[in-house]
Amino acid sequence: MDLLLIGPPGVGKGTQAARLRQTLDIPHLSTGDLLRRHVSEGTRLGAAAAAHMRRGDLVPDELVTEMALGQILGPPCAAGVVLDGFPRTPAQAEALDVALAAHGRRLTAVLHLNAPDRTLLRRLTGRRTCGGCGDSYHLDTRKPRTPGRCDSCGHRLVQRADDTAETARTRLAVHTRQTQPLLARYRLAGVLHEVDGCGDVGDITRRLLAALAPHTVHSSAC
Ligand code: AMP
Repeated sequence: MDLLLIGPPGVGKGTQAARLRQTLDIPHLSTGDLLRRHVSEGTRLGAAAAAHMRRGDLVPDELVTEMALGQILGPPCAAGVVLDGFPRTPAQAEALDVALAAHGRRLTAVLHLNAPDRTLLRRLTGRRTCGGCGDSYHLDTRKPRTPGRCDSCGHRLVQRADDTAETARTRLAVHTRQTQPLLARYRLAGVLHEVDGCGDVGDITRRLLAALAPHTVHSSAC
């Protein structure tokens, strides 16, 4: 089963994709996480991507598409994947459809998570991330037990460079301009599900699983 979680920055795609991975036992692929790893390891791709990411812009299609498809078509994702953050442009969506079709696969469902801009900005600017294990915290809603330290591994919590108010606003605008047009494509294909991304994390997961129920029943019956 190939699933896509799509939605604006800060809506909780990463958190929810990790929960779906556990429940459905399908790997989770976050292009944002992959790119951040390239940046921190100083690879050529990381060097080419870093300035775009710092500004809150998208990394050019050709760089991201090659990286993402390499993972999606690789053995760990052969039986399906939960995509988080890819595709983000019409060109990426087209490349993904073509690549999946060449392997007898297609997106089973596209889950569109959404929330009002003011909620997204609050979530983005209050987010703190563990520099060790990548766990996510929030200054108001998910405080660590020791201020500034990760509950799981004790590493220092940091603010992502692109979670500042100004860059977060840019990322929201980029999402509206470049990624939202994909919704029409998936609606037309009959795979789009709208899911409210507001409220309790567990409630949002339940909404996502409810939207997926027809697909999971079908696939286990085959
Ligand atoms: P995320 O963690 O998904 O919010 O992604 C962080 C940043 O990585 C984005 O603001 C982009 O600069 C870059 N990025 C992640 N995925 C993509 C993609 N599919 N296309 C272009 N840039 C991406």
